[in-house]
Amino acid sequence: TASSPGIRRDRFVGRTPEDVLQTVFGFHGFRSLQAKAVGNVMDGQDTLVLMPTGGGKSVCYQVPALCRPGMGLVISPLIALMDDQVAGLRQLGINAAALHSELDEEESAKIRSDLAGGRVDLLYISPERLLSSGTLDRLVRIPLSVIAIDEAHCISAWGHEFRPEYRALTALPRHFPGVPRIALTATADERTREDILRALDMPHADILVSSFHRPNLNITVQAKGSEIKQLLAVTQQHKDAACIVYCGSRARTERIAESLKSRGLPALPYHAGLSPQEKKAALLRFRSGEPLIIVATIAFGMGIDRPDVRSVVHLDMPASPEAYYQQIGRAGRDGLPSETVMLYGGEDMARARYWLDQSAAPEQEKRVMRNRLEAMIALTETTGCRTQALLQCFGEVLEEPCGHCDNCRTPALTFDGTQAARKLLSAIYRTGECFGALHVIAVLRGKMTPVVERNGHDKLSVWGIGKERSETFWRGVTRQLIARGALKTEGQYGGLLLNHDIARPILRGDMEVHLRADPVTHSNSDSTPRS
Ligand code: ADP
Ligand code: ZN
Repeated sequence: TASSPGIRRDRFVGRTPEDVLQTVFGFHGFRSLQAKAVGNVMDGQDTLVLMPTGGGKSVCYQVPALCRPGMGLVISPLIALMDDQVAGLRQLGINAAALHSELDEEESAKIRSDLAGGRVDLLYISPERLLSSGTLDRLVRIPLSVIAIDEAHCISAWGHEFRPEYRALTALPRHFPGVPRIALTATADERTREDILRALDMPHADILVSSFHRPNLNITVQAKGSEIKQLLAVTQQHKDAACIVYCGSRARTERIAESLKSRGLPALPYHAGLSPQEKKAALLRFRSGEPLIIVATIAFGMGIDRPDVRSVVHLDMPASPEAYYQQIGRAGRDGLPSETVMLYGGEDMARARYWLDQSAAPEQEKRVMRNRLEAMIALTETTGCRTQALLQCFGEVLEEPCGHCDNCRTPALTFDGTQAARKLLSAIYRTGECFGALHVIAVLRGKMTPVVERNGHDKLSVWGIGKERSETFWRGVTRQLIARGALKTEGQYGGLLLNHDIARPILRGDMEVHLRADPVTHSNSDSTPRS
């Protein structure tokens, strides 16, 4: 990755942004907001860009950084992201470098010498490194073309991702007078926006807001029943196009792909455990335009731009609305109507919460992830327009319901589930808070299973108190009580436990519980029962 000594900064100066976009980056044209953002920077106008993840924020500063005289300075909070960007740019022949705390002395020295020699086109830097005195002294002597502040929401204490180091960026205009600044973020709410403008002291910034709305995506969220049947119902609608099926684990991608293949469907697994050759072959087939169902983990993402992906199916709930939005966004790039279907189950949610609690990540990060997970869970349980609810996660207000998500097509029915909730919670309590939904529901429904017999649970007062209701009904109640936090699980395969603060008022009858009546989907016949 060593830069060639012959590289000279400013070699693109004098060429138009369109020309650089095409010849250096290989893109045909700017996306709508990019052109305006690039034009602003070219004119020396401070700018704030609000664009969804995957919207193309990088081009907004990379292109003018090359076209204007001087070096581009990019402030970014995440080392892994910086290193990815730098590697990508170097492949395009751009001399990019990253200065952060994880470089060894040799690498740092190399960058210092390139900086002094005027050979760096774009320098990525972490905020704490930028403001350390040695680095700052060096940088103020270099002419800059633009200062980009990526992930600018990190400057706002209001958001979940506050980084105190970002506060010091207030001093940028003092150190680099006259250099245009462009701040970029995918967090679009009003409060964050105001914080960014204030903290960066950019009162006259031009604010460019891209909508997150993708009106051609039809969002459906369904409780998990028989997942293969639910999946086939989607893929059968578009047999001659591409479908992406996201699963939570590698093993599951293999299993689901096998199951589809055995039904004669063109399915392929894709995950990080495949060999480079297998990955390449899968991508080639995907890009070829042939009908294909790719069953993937989140490893399938970078550089996916097949326009005719007609459906994206999630067999497991993503960890955040951001991830969900990005993944469903791979459908319908050609603008034609496309289906996105997410299946979710209560025990999956409880497990996701459990693993997050167990994670060794720093508490601040866990808080962010927890907020996102809860926002994702709320999205699955909403009875209102899904599109509105999803856009709301990004601070965007869609005035009218979309008219084509599952809740808009078939308004969700709700019922008073107070009695049902009390029965379920009692059954969990009486059976000792150590069994999964399958057993608890068997007890409620008065089934004589080996586990019931072995534990003598047919002698309990709760045995059979829910016989009049179907298994699907009880699974729905379980899931919704998990979503509300009245129930949790312990361990990956652990049983259901009461969360007493929330469960107690329900059990006592002090709190009413309104539940969503799940639409009748396929009953559970050929997969493991889930709540
Ligand atoms: P963000 O930073 O907003 O998440 P990126 O800058 O990483 O988005 O861009 C997302 C994807 O869009 C990348 O794969 C990039 O190559 C592609 N992209 C960006 N701008 C254009 C464009 N004008 N034409 C085609 N593809 C583009
Ligand atoms: Zn809707």
